Amino acid sequence: MDLEELKREMQEAGEKAFRAKQLYEWMHQKLARDFDEMSNIPKALREKCRENYSFTALEPVRIQESATDGTKKFLFRLADGNMVESVWMKYKHGNSVCISSQVGCRMGCRFCASTLDGLVRPLLPSEMLDQVYAVTLLTKERVSHVVVMGMGEPLDNYNHLLQFIRLLTDENGLHISQRNVTVSTCGLIPQMRRLAEEELQITLALSLHAANDKKRRELMPIAKKYRLDELMDASAYYFERTGRRITFEYSLIGGVNDSQTDAGELAELVRGLNCHINLIPVNPVKERDFAPTSPQKAAAFKNKLEKNGINVTIRREMGRDIDGACGQLRRRELHR
Ligand code: SAH
Repeated sequence: MDLEELKREMQEAGEKAFRAKQLYEWMHQKLARDFDEMSNIPKALREKCRENYSFTALEPVRIQESATDGTKKFLFRLADGNMVESVWMKYKHGNSVCISSQVGCRMGCRFCASTLDGLVRPLLPSEMLDQVYAVTLLTKERVSHVVVMGMGEPLDNYNHLLQFIRLLTDENGLHISQRNVTVSTCGLIPQMRRLAEEELQITLALSLHAANDKKRRELMPIAKKYRLDELMDASAYYFERTGRRITFEYSLIGGVNDSQTDAGELAELVRGLNCHINLIPVNPVKERDFAPTSPQKAAAFKNKLEKNGINVTIRREMGRDIDGACGQLRRRELHR
């Protein structure tokens, strides 16, 4: 519930409205883990809350820390026993948390570990928020950036995602800047357009991974439903409505999508769009036989895009030694 909803809830329960503000502060600013911590709330009200509401507090099952770059990966257990992953990354510009939006995923991307067992269920707004809260508490450091790039397809869980973003960026809560929130999608066009109309200041990242429909369909089943030209239109619309430059994600897979021809096609595809391209050497997943591109080929790919006047970066790989890529850690734990 946002603060207004909580105020109404308290009034209906016969409580004073200011109690809502106190509860909200405990949950979203002081990051309490239980009603018991809420020392300025009368004991009777704490009891009443305990009887009527459940308090979302994810339980850390496993924490892995990278020996090379300080990246930490968290495996959390939800109240129903399901598990999700979150990743904490330290950058010069601040601390970033990558969160999951669903348990599993039904999009079926061929290189991705999150989707191997399909979708179990979407996450609640509280379960997305608590990944950020729990990581803040466990690292004892302030989170400045949140990326929804963990397990799941966020736009396949649209309403919960929106409520999550509202609470995360609310000035009465952690108050993370909308500009520091990124949502990544495999390209669900109706939801991309709907998101554009919310006129939020968040960044939308689109997973491309191929510059023509034939190749993209081989990597991403969703490409059978939506074509690239339609995706480019939806991306342009997002920029038009929000003024926010789109990020395109392109995972370089050795011998699959990393040739100079691929780079040329990609440059052609995004011509005229206000965008940024993020190249990510694919993270090998045990169950999939994709290999990353060589550093030389990645550099040549980047050069070709730059020559075409495109903003492009090769994403620094982080956390490879700790099952950094989507869904790898949860999968390993499930098999154990
Ligand atoms: N469902 C959303 C967000 C989750 S994945 C989406 O598809 O965008 C975040 C990014 O990681 C996506 O671009 C996804 O395609 C990519 N990804 C998934 N598995 C990967 C792997 N093994 N190596 C490199 N990138 C991967």
